[in-house]
Amino acid sequence: MKAVLLPSAGAVLLLALMVGAVLHFATAGSDDAAEQRQVRIATMAVASAVVAVRKDQEASTYWDDAVRQVRHKPLDLGWIDQNLGIWFHSYYKHDETYLLDAGEHPIYAMRNGRRASLADFAQVAPRAVPLIHTLRAQLRRGDLRPASDQEQTPGASTIAIVRGHPAILSLKPVISETGKLPQAAGSEHLHVSVRYLDGSFLGELAVRYGIEGAHILALPATSASVPLRNAQGAVIGYLAWHPFRPGLAVAQHMTTVLLLALALVGAMLAWLLGRNLRARLQLETSRAQAQHLAFHDPLTGLPNRTLFNDRLDHALARARRGGGATLLLLDLDRFKHVNDSFGHQAGDALIREFASRLSGLLREEDTIARLGGDEFAILLPTLAGGDTIDRLCQRILNAVHLPFEVLGNQAFVGVSIGIVQAPLAGSERIDLLRKADIALYSAKAEGRDCYRHFNASMDATVQLRGAVEEDLRSALATGDGLALHYQPLVDAEGAMVGVEALMRWTTTAHGQLPPAQVIPIAEETGLIIPLGEWVLREACTVARRWPDLFVAINLSPVQFRTPGFVDRVLDIVRCSGVRPEQLELEVTEGVLIDDDDLVRAGLSRLRGGGLRIALDDFGTGYSSLSYLRKFEVDKIKIDRSFIQHLGHTVDSAAIIHAVVTLGHAIGLTVTAEGVETREQQRFLTQAGCNQMQGYLFSQPVPADEIEKLRTANAALRAA
Ligand code: C2E
Ligand code: CA
Ligand code: CA
Repeated sequence: MKAVLLPSAGAVLLLALMVGAVLHFATAGSDDAAEQRQVRIATMAVASAVVAVRKDQEASTYWDDAVRQVRHKPLDLGWIDQNLGIWFHSYYKHDETYLLDAGEHPIYAMRNGRRASLADFAQVAPRAVPLIHTLRAQLRRGDLRPASDQEQTPGASTIAIVRGHPAILSLKPVISETGKLPQAAGSEHLHVSVRYLDGSFLGELAVRYGIEGAHILALPATSASVPLRNAQGAVIGYLAWHPFRPGLAVAQHMTTVLLLALALVGAMLAWLLGRNLRARLQLETSRAQAQHLAFHDPLTGLPNRTLFNDRLDHALARARRGGGATLLLLDLDRFKHVNDSFGHQAGDALIREFASRLSGLLREEDTIARLGGDEFAILLPTLAGGDTIDRLCQRILNAVHLPFEVLGNQAFVGVSIGIVQAPLAGSERIDLLRKADIALYSAKAEGRDCYRHFNASMDATVQLRGAVEEDLRSALATGDGLALHYQPLVDAEGAMVGVEALMRWTTTAHGQLPPAQVIPIAEETGLIIPLGEWVLREACTVARRWPDLFVAINLSPVQFRTPGFVDRVLDIVRCSGVRPEQLELEVTEGVLIDDDDLVRAGLSRLRGGGLRIALDDFGTGYSSLSYLRKFEVDKIKIDRSFIQHLGHTVDSAAIIHAVVTLGHAIGLTVTAEGVETREQQRFLTQAGCNQMQGYLFSQPVPADEIEKLRTANAALRAA
């Protein structure tokens, strides 16, 4: 800004100075010339005023009638007033006139247009006497030469102070113009005129000569004045005036114009600079906005992945020098459900609310970032103790469990958290993020809505994953190593009424892998579709061997979400030739959460096709009871955890009673899973469970084993 402002202001100033200087030199010269001219004019004006007074007098004193009248005794005062006295005032603006006889006695006096006392001459006499002497001497000599070549009669005049005024004092003899009236030389009457220079004369200067503001000074003015001198050449005062300064006037006009121009240029400059400044500010603001956008999530205003990575890099750099950092990855559970049920706006509102709840739990120095979707990350720039982290995670879980008010609805979600610490687990960003992700994944895998600290065995699991995917793909192509084991379900009397098909996979590289490991990988990779179909075909084939047993098959939510899934199931069932009534499909709440209408329609088509639906792992999810009303199912399988807690917690018994009662009330079969002891069996029988499954009766076993079990079972019963 300075780079523009200073030079432009400088240029304007320089321009102003240059124009000012030119103006000054041009106008100062013309002012000097004008003043000299005015001095000449003023000098001349004073001189001509003196001559004018003498000529005024001459017009009335060089006159036969006047000679006759002044001699007349007594004087005809009326005539004198009209021709030598008052008339001089009214016509010529003389201030005083007197008539003196041959003995120099005043015989007539006029002051300010009125006849006055003859004694008034006493005041004039001291100044007039020298003139009288001079003139009388000339007259006595009979010398009638005119006082100047502009006059016809002699006379004497001067400038003198009369009654305190600088005045023209002039004497003229009253003389016969024709010479017919004889006058003894030196006996002529004298006419005395006084004209003040500070009276009407000053006005005349302005009117006739353009000399404005004329005034009389005792001392010389600094400029524009001329001295007033008496007949002897002595200065008796000064005539001063307001000098006309054409240059100054021009300069003043020019200055006004110049100032206006400068103001205009200044204003333009200011406007331009202002515009520039605004443009700059705008640019800076939008740059700042762009910067903010580049590093922040627009929905929550939290740092985005880019900024988070940067902060993490810094924290890790510090951690390498000592200290440490803690990284938490968070992922909302059942967020998709909120989005699907209430719409994306509700989803956005929930994300914002979650962000603000999170922020409320953390300190200033911690970083919370939204990495995308319902994924968040927290960076604690310290190596927090295990207790501290656990407390923080528990607080986060609690905060998330409070219902979210979104667009007039209440939504419930959970959160899974993966935790990793530097430098314990590593000090490279990519590596740490990967490990935090593994911890998060294992939190999800272990039932969601919990937190897990990263440990090395998790890493091994993940590394295994890649290898497993490859192997599973080829196993599905060839069927090598894949098998189904069957676990019996017994009724209240202990008779086997059905079996649950559970997949088993033996790999050459990793040995036997439990379904808890295989199924999630299959779900992630999409291999669950061919795997699920293989399980269904296999189970159907086996079911035909045991027409009196039902066969339960587990379905993954991922399968349910695949378009055309229901048709595929019905197709496979039809092709296998098994009675659909023999089949039971086990679904978890994960299936039901997804999409109400689609799921409802799918379930009802499957049931319409003759298959039964069982709700698996009942009691582990949310609002389970409400699903029962919404979806048509035939059976509920109370989760293993409730049975295993029997005798340890009072709640489990109460819950089992409640579920059995409710299930029966709406006509469902109630099954208990994971029955391992006689006590459990006794309790469940008393509680009214219809069926039971667990190691107490049998582990999952190959189909041939089931055959043996049935034989043994039948023999036992027969006995
Ligand atoms: P699930 O559907 O709840 O199956 C019952 C699980 O409990 C089986 O584990 C079974 O071996 C185990 N179990 C049965 N009785 C007892 C007992 O008395 N005590 C204990 N501790 N455990 C008992 P498995 O075979 O490891 O299967 C684990 C899970 O993998 C299954 O849980 C099911 O969700 C899934 N799974 C298994 N096979 C398939 C399949 O073919 N398709 C799909 N989608 N999921 C499958
Ligand atoms: Ca099951
Ligand atoms: Ca189960």
